[in-house]
Amino acid sequence: MAILTINAGSSSVKFTLFPSDADTPRASGIVERIGLEGTRLKARRAGGEAVETPVPGADVDRAVEVILEALGHPQHGVIAGVGEIEAVGHRVVHGGERLTRPVVLDGAAKAYLESIVPLAPLHNPHHLRGIAACERHIPHAVQVAVFDTAFHASLPRHAFLYGIPLRFHAEDGVRRYGFHGISHKYVAGEAARFLGRPAEGLRLVTCHLGNGCSVTAVRGGRSLDTSMGFTPLEGLLMGTRSGDIDPAAVLYLMERHGFSPAAMNDLLNRRSGLLALAGVGSNDVRDILAAARNGSNQAELAVEMFCYRIRKTIGAYAAALGGLDAVVFTAGIGENAPEIRRRALADLGFLGILLDEALNESPAEGPRAVHAASSRVAVLVIPTNEELEIARETRQALAEQRRP
Ligand code: ADP
Repeated sequence: MAILTINAGSSSVKFTLFPSDADTPRASGIVERIGLEGTRLKARRAGGEAVETPVPGADVDRAVEVILEALGHPQHGVIAGVGEIEAVGHRVVHGGERLTRPVVLDGAAKAYLESIVPLAPLHNPHHLRGIAACERHIPHAVQVAVFDTAFHASLPRHAFLYGIPLRFHAEDGVRRYGFHGISHKYVAGEAARFLGRPAEGLRLVTCHLGNGCSVTAVRGGRSLDTSMGFTPLEGLLMGTRSGDIDPAAVLYLMERHGFSPAAMNDLLNRRSGLLALAGVGSNDVRDILAAARNGSNQAELAVEMFCYRIRKTIGAYAAALGGLDAVVFTAGIGENAPEIRRRALADLGFLGILLDEALNESPAEGPRAVHAASSRVAVLVIPTNEELEIARETRQALAEQRRP
């Protein structure tokens, strides 16, 4: 039997198929460019080549259908039929305040997800479409939702409340939710395993640096604080997002330029961050680092701003945790950009963090330590694997459901 993970977004549906009892995927892929010209399925069997198939005009429902056709294909497929899929694990960005662990999607859970669409208007509607499509095409399978916010449900009130009247939390749900939780949870677990220490008592700062960036303070395997807030806009500087900015500056700009809320939202989420600051017409850190190396002062400043925010958040979270055992880097930038790791940790020797330059620069893959032998704090690079975390949590939800 198998578990299928589905990540349905605005223009793509990603999938991975795992055996029900093992962590090595049998196939994975994506239907991309949904709603655009050139919609296509890219799928790969374990150990095989990626195969591309055009699926013109496919919507999310059709995308799920072609994924299932590919998985069950008589020659190239990996399962005899959809009957082999016993559960689907859906990545869902927002679980609100109520869905704080993986849930089997019954009517009540789906109704609650509908009710919190205003909290995640860019994500949850697509997830709901993915869920509906899987219910239609794999009706016998148990549908499970795994939330990006759930790992941060352990934040104490003093960390998740904002300094505004409490009724805006009670009545409007305005609070820090935190995101990237599936990734932070996965790498925190893998870090404990790598260090050969029980999660209990372990104090970690996990840095997920991809297109979106967030840092989480993890103690005893639980999230204690995290840099993203009510939405994924807060905190670090990101590819196209501003991260922290004084809300008064936002109001000032709106008044001065007559920006609508939608225009301001677009500016902060899509036209700010590294894209706006580096001046290289790209938000890809590879391009920005190359420009900085080639003498662009503007790109250099953007890199320094990016690293500085990571560094000061690590310092803040060392204080929140009352000490530090390891800093973990993950996601596209965290795993692949040694210069960003080096600059983010520069001058943190006073916290006991010392990099080994050669280890840090080494192009090794897989979980690895990059700190100096004399470093009190471990520095780890741990490739994230959100699909595996979703599959594991789906497996758990399934086992719990079946328990008498
Ligand atoms: P997402 O958040 O969309 O899952 P990823 O985790 O894949 O994104 O990260 C994507 C980002 O990783 C790219 O925008 C790019 O800036 C960065 N990246 C990938 N490879 C490298 C590299 N070798 N050096 C620097 N940055 C990289």
